[in-house]
Amino acid sequence: MRWSPIQKNPESYQKNPNLLDYAKTVVTFSWETMRNAFQGLPLAKGLNIAHEAVDRHADGPLRNRVALQWLGSEGASRAFTYADLKGQTSRFANILKGLGIGKADTVCVLTDRIPELYIAALGTLKNTSVFCPLFSAFGPEPIFQRLRKGDAKILLTTERYYRKKVSQLMDDLPSLKQVLLVDAKEHLGNDLLSFHKLMEESSDIYAIPPTDPEDIAVLHFTNGTTGMPKGALHAHGAALIHYMTGKFVMDFHPDDIFWCTADPGWVTGTSYGIISPLLHGITNIVDESDFDAMRWCQILASQKVTVWYTAPTAIRRFMRMGIDPVRQYDLSHLRLIHSVGEPLNPEAVVWGQKAMGLPIHDNWWQTETGGIMIANYPAMEIRPGSMGRPLPGIEAAIVQRTGKDRVKVIETAGVQGELALRPGWPSMFRGYLHDEARYRQCFVGGWYLTGDLAKRDADGYFWFVGRADDIIKTSGHMVGPFEVESTLMEHPAVAEAGVIGKPHPLIGEIVKAFVALKKGFAPSDELRQDIIGFARKKLGSAVAPKEIAFKPDLPKNKAGKIMRRLLKARELGLPEGDLSTLEDSE
Ligand code: AMP
Repeated sequence: MRWSPIQKNPESYQKNPNLLDYAKTVVTFSWETMRNAFQGLPLAKGLNIAHEAVDRHADGPLRNRVALQWLGSEGASRAFTYADLKGQTSRFANILKGLGIGKADTVCVLTDRIPELYIAALGTLKNTSVFCPLFSAFGPEPIFQRLRKGDAKILLTTERYYRKKVSQLMDDLPSLKQVLLVDAKEHLGNDLLSFHKLMEESSDIYAIPPTDPEDIAVLHFTNGTTGMPKGALHAHGAALIHYMTGKFVMDFHPDDIFWCTADPGWVTGTSYGIISPLLHGITNIVDESDFDAMRWCQILASQKVTVWYTAPTAIRRFMRMGIDPVRQYDLSHLRLIHSVGEPLNPEAVVWGQKAMGLPIHDNWWQTETGGIMIANYPAMEIRPGSMGRPLPGIEAAIVQRTGKDRVKVIETAGVQGELALRPGWPSMFRGYLHDEARYRQCFVGGWYLTGDLAKRDADGYFWFVGRADDIIKTSGHMVGPFEVESTLMEHPAVAEAGVIGKPHPLIGEIVKAFVALKKGFAPSDELRQDIIGFARKKLGSAVAPKEIAFKPDLPKNKAGKIMRRLLKARELGLPEGDLSTLEDSE
C-alpha cells in the first residue's frame, strides 16, 4: 500500500470545503443536526424526497434557478427551473393519482435520459409511489424479469421500446395496468396512453400526502450470483445520506453546476443523477448521449460544470486519448472530480491532475447502501488507489466470517477481509422485494456484509481488493452470471453455460461464457455468432456475453453446480485452488 500524496491546485480548488476537518467531524457528527436541513411536509410531519428536492425550492428564493439542464443527443436542449419542475412533477403525480396508483405502487420507467424520465421519477415520489428505473440498454428478458418481480403497475416508456422490449410479454405481466408512451400524440388504447396528452390534461397543483421517512421510495434491481435479480428497496429517509454526501463528498455550494454521468437505471444515476443535487438546490446537468470523450469535454466547458461525478471506465477511455485533446477545452470552472463503481487505478488519479488540473476522488458504495459510504473528501489528502475513509456517522470494518452467525473484526491494518458496515444508516436498503431470507443473509453478527473484499490501512483508509463472489462489473455495471447463463440455456444448441468476468483494460471486465453444446451440435464460428446474437437480442448489449468459448463439458462441484471460480482461474492461468469439491475428484 504505497502511495504518494498529490498536491492540489489551490487556484482551482474549493477554498472553503464543507468538510474541513474529517477527524473532528467524525467525533462531533450527529444525524439529528443533518436532519435540520430538511423542511418536512407543510401539512404533515414526515419526509418526502420530492418535497425536499423540488417543491420547497420552487416555493422559495430558488424558484427561478435552473434545476435540470437537459442536453439532447441531436443538439436540442431544455432547461427546467425549480418552479417548472414543481409544476411538471405535480402533473405527473396527478396522472398517477387519476389512474388509481397510490402509496407503495411501483412505477417503472424505461427510457433514455430524457426529461420525462426525471419528471416521472420525482412525480412518482410525490405520489408516495415507488420509482423503479430500468436501464434502456437491457433487452426484453431482463426488463420482463424486473417488471414482473417489481409488480410494476405503470410503465413509462417510448413506442419503440414498448414494441421492441415489452409488448410481446404483456400477457405475463398481470399487475401492469397501464403503459404511458412518451412519444404518442394520442392514446393508442385503454391501457396504452399518451403521456403528453395526460400531462396537458392534468393539474399542476398537487398536495403531497403524508409521507413517513420509512415509506418506500425507490426500487433498484441489482444482481446476485445465484438466482434472478434482487430488488433493493429504499425509503424516503435515504435523502439524509443523499443530502449529507452532497455536502461532505460532492462539496456542493449554492452556485455549483453538477454533472453525474450515470444513467438512473443504475443506483448512482438516481441517488446522484437526480436526488442529491436537487436536495441542494443546484443545477443538475443531464446528457442524453452515451460516452463520447470530445462531447463530454465540450459539455464540461460549455456548461461550466463545477463538480463532476463519473466512472473509471470513462476515465480510462479519456486516458487512452492522451492529454492534449482535453487541454483544448476551458475547464477552469471544474473544481472537483469524483469517481465510483469500480476500482480507480492510481494512474487515473494522477492523470486527472495532469489533464484536468485536478486529482480524481474515488468513493465507494453499492445499490444496497443507497448512497456513498466511503470517500476521498475534498479537503483530505488523497491516497491514489484507495476508496477513502468512511463517512462521519458510518462505521465500516474489515471482518472475517468465523461461523454461520458470527464474524470477527480484523483490527490489524493491511489484512484482507470482507468489507462490512454497521447497520442502521439512513439510506440502508430496507429489504429485497419478496425475498426476506436473502435480505437477512446479508446481516451477520451485527454487521452488514457487502460482498466486497478490502483492506484498511493504519490511518483508516480503505483499499478495494475484489468481489467475494462471482458478480461481474462491466463498464461499471453489475451483471449477475446466473441471469446470463439462464438465457444462454434457452438457445437450442446449449446444454450448459458458465459465465465469468474476464479482465479488460478499458471496461473493467467483459462477460465471457463457457458453453457445452447439446448432442448433434458442433462448435463453429457461425454457431458462436448465433449464440451471441441470441443473447444480445434477449439480454441487451449491456448484459450479453462478448466472448463465448466452447467446452466439451464444464467443471462442476459434487452438487452438480458449475464452478465459475475454476473456469475463471483456468481462463486467467491462475492457481486452481482447492479442487476437493470438484465432481470427478476422489
Ligand atoms: P452497484 O450495486 O451496481 O452500484 O455495484 C456495487 C459494487 O461496485 C461494489 O460492491 C463494488 O464491488 C463495486 N464498487 C463500487 N465502487 C467502487 C470503488 N470505488 N472501488 C472498487 N469497487 C467499487
